[in-house]
Amino acid sequence: APETPPRDELVFDLIRQEEARQRNGLELIASENFTSAQVREAVGSVLTNKYAEGYPGKRWYGGCEVVDQVEALAIERAKQLFGAAWANVQPHSGSSANIAVYTALLKPGDTVLGMDLSHGGHLTHGSPVNFSGLNYKVIGYKVRPEDELLHMEDVRALALEHKPKMIICGASAYSRILDFKAFREIADEVGAYLMADIAHIAGLVAAGLHPSPLPYAHIVTSTTHKTLRGPRSGLLLSNDLEVAAILDRSIFPGTQGGPLEHVIAGKAVAFWEALQPSFKTYSAQIIKNAQTLAAELQKRGYRIVSGGTDNHLFVVDLRPQGLNGSKATRLLDAVHITISKSTLPYDTEKIIHGGGIRIGTPAITTRGMTEEHMPIIADLIDRALKGEDPEKLRAEVKAFASQFPLP
Ligand code: PLP
Repeated sequence: APETPPRDELVFDLIRQEEARQRNGLELIASENFTSAQVREAVGSVLTNKYAEGYPGKRWYGGCEVVDQVEALAIERAKQLFGAAWANVQPHSGSSANIAVYTALLKPGDTVLGMDLSHGGHLTHGSPVNFSGLNYKVIGYKVRPEDELLHMEDVRALALEHKPKMIICGASAYSRILDFKAFREIADEVGAYLMADIAHIAGLVAAGLHPSPLPYAHIVTSTTHKTLRGPRSGLLLSNDLEVAAILDRSIFPGTQGGPLEHVIAGKAVAFWEALQPSFKTYSAQIIKNAQTLAAELQKRGYRIVSGGTDNHLFVVDLRPQGLNGSKATRLLDAVHITISKSTLPYDTEKIIHGGGIRIGTPAITTRGMTEEHMPIIADLIDRALKGEDPEKLRAEVKAFASQFPLP
């Protein structure tokens, strides 16, 4: 009989604790969500045992006849979901997808134009402590101070001045619609590639509630675990088959080894779920919840960056309350409301603290919360930030959250 190792009580006890934490709290981190039981079943399956370097039908290993079908299914569903001519489902994460794009299309030292980190961009869009900022010359475009919105004339002026080889559009903390067509026109004007990183908004794009970059970007990168509600992973999409062929080589053998076929199976399941009509209803509810929660916080005296949201998230400026991102995170954590601290455009706080917090509604919407619940959540946030007794509030949060089961 095969060896049966003793049960690892230590790790499984921690997993039980984490499950309780997720159940008893309010998850308002904009980049998190709750996967379905069948997504988790796929990720926890025997597919983790299989090596499959290469692509379906062209592997370096034997025994790939089943995982070939799994990966082909994931690719077909991704193409269908986003209306793309090509998809690569092997990136291990959003960052891995972005590394593959930089590696494929640029040489070290090339100039890249991306959204400034403190204005909503991501680490991989040129932070000095990230591979992107370390290996490439990165210029950041910013929102305007007066309305905290991106103005395409400003992006164009920087593109004309710096002649980037690639322009990146997409953000981690920008609550407004991105004009992908205008980005492509600017890219064409200066002879740059256009990369759209839809990590945050992928689910909204799939549901048709945010314009798609597919008609415009040379390459689209994404995560699969935020609004798209799949396993923690990455994705590449394109309609440009020349760029696509370069990117296939850049993922394997360029920047990754064996694909995670168990996670690819989880992505296939998530894409299938996102193709159901109910996913559109879910995504529309995410936006309604974000808009309602932002408005409810405004009613309670909070300043929302750019005045509101068109998507699943918004950033709250907490400086008028005498708080910063770190202090607010501590106060909210103590009552089991989870958010992420955030820098603000033209922030006056230290970067490590950030002048505010980012709030998102994908996870609470998965639990079944709707507009009518947003005033309750706004009250809980407001009272926690005002320093009300954490023990009492924690019990209220738990009682409220327990009405909404986890998938
Ligand atoms: N791109 C954007 C816009 C993101 O917001 C994120 C994650 O927060 C990533 C890329 C990176 O994804 P991952 O954490 O899977 O590497």
